[in-house]
Amino acid sequence: MKLTNRSKVVSNKEMTFMERIYLPEIFKGMAITMKHALQGSKGKVYSYPEVEKPRAKVWRGLHVLKRDEEGRERCTACGLCAVACPAEAITMTAAERTKEEKDLYREEKYASVYEINMLRCIFCGMCEEACPKSAVYLTDRLVDVETNRGSFVYGKDKLVEKINERIDITARQSELQKKSVK
Ligand code: SF4
Ligand code: SF4
Repeated sequence: MKLTNRSKVVSNKEMTFMERIYLPEIFKGMAITMKHALQGSKGKVYSYPEVEKPRAKVWRGLHVLKRDEEGRERCTACGLCAVACPAEAITMTAAERTKEEKDLYREEKYASVYEINMLRCIFCGMCEEACPKSAVYLTDRLVDVETNRGSFVYGKDKLVEKINERIDITARQSELQKKSVK
């Protein structure tokens, strides 16, 4: 049964002689490379990592799990970010706060485990929009280079902001959100 109209009929026609030797396409590719090489730096080449390319204001990079003004974790493990995530990159385990943990977590429920798989994430920002507690935001930070797949699963140790190194996300908040965050 045909579900959509997106399928295309693939042409199986024989390649011509010129297509089979690939030379015209190779020369076209080399011409583009030469064009860029001859343009020189002209402010377009950055010696990364010494010089970082300026990022746009709307850049969406590595997430942060925010704390409130008293240093308590905002996330209540409601799971809405995970539901909203189109890449199914977020997983978490909820736990109940004890009396002694009142200064650590803002509400009675918190995420004892919160993980984002950076290999799955497409940095769309849906988690940020879905969060009712203003707990998760994307920032202008980059995901580190890793040498194995497991290291791209970021847990709370990498996601929760440090108490003495707070990350300013006000540039990402709408005026309405700034007013409603308590
Ligand atoms: S930015 Fe998008 S893909 Fe990445 S964790 Fe959030 S919702 Fe999922
Ligand atoms: S980050 Fe926000 S949406 Fe996700 S579980 Fe925590 S409180 Fe809920």
